[in-house]
Amino acid sequence: MDHCPHDGHGGSPFSDGWTLGPLLTLLFFGMNQPPFGLLIFGISLSKPNASVAIERVFPLMLLAARMGFQGCTVVGAGVIGLSCGIRLLESGLETRILSKDVTPHTVSDIAAAWWYPFLAEPVEKTTRWSVETYYELLRLKEDLRLGFITMRKGVEYLVEPCPPPGWAGDISHFRAIRQDEVIEGYQHGWEIEAPVIEMGHYLPWLMERFLSLGGDIELTNIASLSDINSRLVVNCTGLGARDLCRDENIVPVRGQIIYIDQDPGFGRFDQRPENLIYTIPRRDVTVLGGTAQRGDWHEEIRKEDTLEILQKCSALWPELDRSKIIGEAVGLRPSRNEVRLEVERSEDSVIIHNYGHGGAGVTLSWGCADEVTSLAQGLLET
Ligand SMILES: Cc1cc2nc3c(=O)[nH]c(=O)nc-3n(C[C@H](O)[C@H](O)[C@H](O)COP(=O)(O)OP(=O)(O)OC[C@H]3O[C@@H](n4cnc5c(N)ncnc54)[C@H](O)[C@@H]3O)c2cc1C
Repeated sequence: MDHCPHDGHGGSPFSDGWTLGPLLTLLFFGMNQPPFGLLIFGISLSKPNASVAIERVFPLMLLAARMGFQGCTVVGAGVIGLSCGIRLLESGLETRILSKDVTPHTVSDIAAAWWYPFLAEPVEKTTRWSVETYYELLRLKEDLRLGFITMRKGVEYLVEPCPPPGWAGDISHFRAIRQDEVIEGYQHGWEIEAPVIEMGHYLPWLMERFLSLGGDIELTNIASLSDINSRLVVNCTGLGARDLCRDENIVPVRGQIIYIDQDPGFGRFDQRPENLIYTIPRRDVTVLGGTAQRGDWHEEIRKEDTLEILQKCSALWPELDRSKIIGEAVGLRPSRNEVRLEVERSEDSVIIHNYGHGGAGVTLSWGCADEVTSLAQGLLET
């Protein structure tokens, strides 16, 4: 049973460089395009020539800062922050996002991204959030015809028999595999059909959707959540929460992946964290993985990891052709003993935390965004 893969396993916005630093408003062009169509404009003060501009701009910004923002301020523009931002706007709440980085520079850009509740606790909640997200991704794929979300079959191989995961009966396709389908080294397994998302298209689409609903995105590094002058703050900073909330429970779990221009037909998985193996077929590439190195902050490709991933994946997929490799990437999963989705009140601020989604941020994104939105509605209506 130990091996069951589903067992869960700055400155204020105004303190970067100048006392009142660059406040950038970000406009996004190019729906359904890779994330290269970003145009950043707005008030940007550079130190050598800011003296004239600052006299005119400073009083206005100070006034805005004092008045505070009457809606929701989401911090973070990864898949978690953007999904929350969209749901908050859709529910009628005025919302802006403050973020240090946006796509293609977030961990969310590295996600493979196969729907699967992996490395995320607590299981009762992650199961519900995952199933809600499953159907929202299906709806986006079918109703909005988003080609960068596809449904693919995948087989999870198990070294020992294990009861089906809690979500097995809730998704559109789940079956235990027959004995003749079990491969060497394994005893059991199941086949599922699940959404696979190309994050290089999906994150820009989420940004475009957020902006088209009337949201603003400001690029800024936040040093303290309590410095944000807003009625409500939603903290979606992933690994950034380690410093912002002094939360040592959140740690990086390093993931290295390989992109290959070859389709295995169906995905193959062995998701024991200590021996993580996956081949995820997407429309553009197949993603080979992986590693789950806890507490490892190293963001460069490691040759030895590349070799190990290839060796592990070849065992599940003997036809793998190394000459078709086209790239590699590394990302740090924001892992926590459990996802922190809760309200924190202090004398002068109300914060909804939503971070620590581990290896399942995409899988949990819409379920968590819905829960944040209903919490926000309750808080702002009282
Ligand atoms: C190799 C790999 C494969 C993965 N595969 C999958 C998969 O198949 N399926 C799946 O569901 N998940 C997968 N994941 C996990 C997924 O990528 C994460 O769970 C998800 O990206 C977390 O999203 P997030 O928005 O919380 O974090 P991030 O994407 O890291 O976003 C955090 C945001 O907060 C901002 N921020 C942080 N600190 C500050 C600050 N001080 N001030 C202002 N802004 C700040 C950042 O700039 C960023 O915009 C994978 C991860 C890796 C590394």
